Amino acid sequence: MNMEVRTRYAPSPTGFMHVGNLRTALYEYLIAKSQGGKFILRIEDTDQERLVDGAVEVIYRTLDMVGLKHDEGPDVGGEYGPYVQSQRKDMYKPYAEQLVKEGKAYYCFCTKERLDALHQEQGVGGGYDRHCRDLPQEEVDRLLAQGVPYVIRQKMPLEGSTTFQDAVYGEITVENKELEDQILLKADGYPTYNFANVIDDHSMHITHVVRGCEYLSSAPKYNLLYEAFGWEVPTYVHLPLIMGKNEDGSVSKLSKRHGATSFEDLMADGYLPEAVTNYIALLGWCPKDNQEMFTLEGLAESFSIDGISKSPAVFDYDKLTWFNGEYIRGKSPEEFLQLAKPYFRQAFPDTEAPYPKLVEILQPRVTRLTQIPEMIGFFQKLPGYEKELFINKKSKTNLENSKEVLEDTIALLEALPNWNHDGIHDCLIQYAQEKGLKNGTVMWPVRIAAAGQLVTPGGAIEILEILGREESLRRLRLGLAKL
Ligand code: GLU
Repeated sequence: MNMEVRTRYAPSPTGFMHVGNLRTALYEYLIAKSQGGKFILRIEDTDQERLVDGAVEVIYRTLDMVGLKHDEGPDVGGEYGPYVQSQRKDMYKPYAEQLVKEGKAYYCFCTKERLDALHQEQGVGGGYDRHCRDLPQEEVDRLLAQGVPYVIRQKMPLEGSTTFQDAVYGEITVENKELEDQILLKADGYPTYNFANVIDDHSMHITHVVRGCEYLSSAPKYNLLYEAFGWEVPTYVHLPLIMGKNEDGSVSKLSKRHGATSFEDLMADGYLPEAVTNYIALLGWCPKDNQEMFTLEGLAESFSIDGISKSPAVFDYDKLTWFNGEYIRGKSPEEFLQLAKPYFRQAFPDTEAPYPKLVEILQPRVTRLTQIPEMIGFFQKLPGYEKELFINKKSKTNLENSKEVLEDTIALLEALPNWNHDGIHDCLIQYAQEKGLKNGTVMWPVRIAAAGQLVTPGGAIEILEILGREESLRRLRLGLAKL
């Protein structure tokens, strides 16, 4: 049978998008798109206590920014809606009741007090003792008629084992006696997550279920549910953990102390959505030819499940930064200006910044947009600096020749008719030639005096040009006064 590939991204609206969730979404999208299939968005909001205002918007916005367009979902509709779990509330109970009728599930009337006591007695790790599993039918009918609150539990097989295939982790077998008679329907009529996801995935015709490996231990229970209903089991694709590098060189599960862990925080740190997408695609998936730079379309062409690795992936911020620099340099100057403008404004709040010049010096050097204000802060305000900055071996400068160069160049620049790149360039280079000095011996002190700091984006000429005549000369004179 030639079945259409259908994957779903099923986030719980928590208010942020962890990079692990984003990777899940991306892989679901790529698995579908690489096979001409459909990518579905389903919001899993049944844990009403954890609901966060605006959280669903974060999901839409993130998917939109990275370009993961869903074919079906709460906002765009589709054949198998509703696509919000809380709006499906009434769909689950009949399925649970069907299993009860078929003897594969049962009503459990145990009170909270009884369960608490049981828990106390057994300590951690003890499961439900199956007290209600074999209640006589009359007893069940009586309690139901009395309106005693109940949950519905799955009857796990007491013997044998359950085996399932995972596309990444291979064949996995667990002993059935290890599996608890899990709750399918809660006393409030809501399904548990473990039940709802199976019903939803089946009724939405999902063919590939992609999720983090923290769900691997629940997969046998899901498998038994599919079997209990006689439904086809989807292809399971569990993804490895994402780790972070600790200072001592060890790795542990990625958390805030390693750096930004959510898409929003990465954006706030000056990364571009394309760079994050490209990098995250490679966190656990290896293309056949080790290619690194991928557009989303390119990923959709190359992606295949057999390239997913089960070994934990380490989130490397330096590598992400490298990708980001590549993407920044790949932009047109106009695109870069649009991205950089908010950051330019931080350094040039009041004045119209010399945007095109800033683009010219910054685009080749910036690797994260948030570096910009710091890189260009000196244009706005000359930092305090020590005169020792004028000493540089490679440029052959010392305090004496720096003083002389500043004296001479101030005079020459004062007389310069046109304050532009070529004018400043010719003036300084000619001076170096006439004096028999290396260009660097002239440029170094001029740049230091103009910027007041060692490392600058752009050289002396660009900096003078951006500062303008008046401010440049003021700074050069201040530098000279230090000497
Ligand atoms: N709502 C679950 C989560 O956000 C989804 C897990 C799954 O993909 O089944 O973790």
